[in-house]
Amino acid sequence: MPDPTWVGCLVPDPTRNTRAMTRDPAHPSPTSRSWREDTVAVTAGRPHKTPDAPMNQPIVLASTYVGGGEVGYGRYGNPSWTALEEAIGALEGGRALTFSSGMAAVQAVFDLIPADGVLVLPEQCYLGVIGAAQARAERFGLQVRLVDVTDTGTVLAAAEDADLVWLESPTNPTMEVADLVGLGGELGMFDCLVAVDNTFATPLLQQPLVLGADLVIHSATKFLSGHSDAVLGAVVLPAGDRDNFAALETTRRMAGAIPGALESYLVLRGLRTLHLRVARAQQTAELLVAKLADHDAVRRVYYPGLPDSLGYRFATAQMSGFGALLSVDLGSAEAADQFVEAAQLWVHATSLGGVESTLERRRRWAGESVLVPEGLVRLSVGIEHPDDLLADLLQALDQLD
Ligand SMILES: *Cc1c(COP(=O)(O)O)cnc(C)c1O
Repeated sequence: MPDPTWVGCLVPDPTRNTRAMTRDPAHPSPTSRSWREDTVAVTAGRPHKTPDAPMNQPIVLASTYVGGGEVGYGRYGNPSWTALEEAIGALEGGRALTFSSGMAAVQAVFDLIPADGVLVLPEQCYLGVIGAAQARAERFGLQVRLVDVTDTGTVLAAAEDADLVWLESPTNPTMEVADLVGLGGELGMFDCLVAVDNTFATPLLQQPLVLGADLVIHSATKFLSGHSDAVLGAVVLPAGDRDNFAALETTRRMAGAIPGALESYLVLRGLRTLHLRVARAQQTAELLVAKLADHDAVRRVYYPGLPDSLGYRFATAQMSGFGALLSVDLGSAEAADQFVEAAQLWVHATSLGGVESTLERRRRWAGESVLVPEGLVRLSVGIEHPDDLLADLLQALDQLD
């Protein structure tokens, strides 16, 4: 009989605790359930405390491992992923699997449902998610239903015979908020999976598994990493969901959608300061929202924390903060282009969630939804001094004709 731990790597054993691999069960990673999130962000995924153990999980560069253990081969596992998965899982309250990118995580979740199944998607959400769903619709006959996520009744009606309901909240880039509490309860009675893309909120501001979601997806490229230097994705599931965990792990190893060891290290290093970065950036975002809302050149500010916004009631019920992203509508593509060019401190760039503040006119992307105003600029607030960030935006606004 061949040893199943090294031959049987094509199909993962769902009873195997992959998070424990390479770790000494007698010295569990120092994460206590009673610790608060800030403490978990600093402590989770560290090597066990034994004399001369390194403080941080080292970057393990190995394509192959000595046989007879649980990892075996570099496409099946890596201690650098495992440490990061422990930390993300601990923060979200579940069990995490990391992927080569947020989109690889998205595709793995789409693979959980039949190729010609029914997928409910927000009509405004991350562009790549809609694109990936549409490609599957064309190739495999996936039925994609685009819904307004702020309209709970519409989401529920579309979800009745769905295989997967995909939610993003707040959404990119108009900061719409879905009623995750209400939907979590109602969708729990349907025979469908509920996935929430939690990239914008981070596990510190919103924990979808607690609200009833089956899967949480992260582009860890953004806030979790926080330094604009790594691309990585994650899916988090409730600890008891072994079947979907095993299916996702199989997809990861079959598609080869594995994170790099260096990227895993960088994201875990970034995660150690997540609470400090998010708190600071969010505080600055709130200040900017207040100042920008009063400016003549700004038609509208989009932020879940605005009491007159549609999502405010839901956001206050399900989020512990409103986040570090906001958008402004400057009325036209020309004004928005002029504005992003005039900014000096803010970097005109896509992506978000880094320590450096960035801004972008979203409709410059041909694929962006026509529901997004031409003059909408999304701002990702970093951790520079708020006075400098505000002054730069005001000087750029003052240059508009
Ligand atoms: C960036 C992003 C993704 C895709 O993640 P990548 O890491 O770029 O592959 C998915 N969802 C949201 C909300 C994002 O911002």
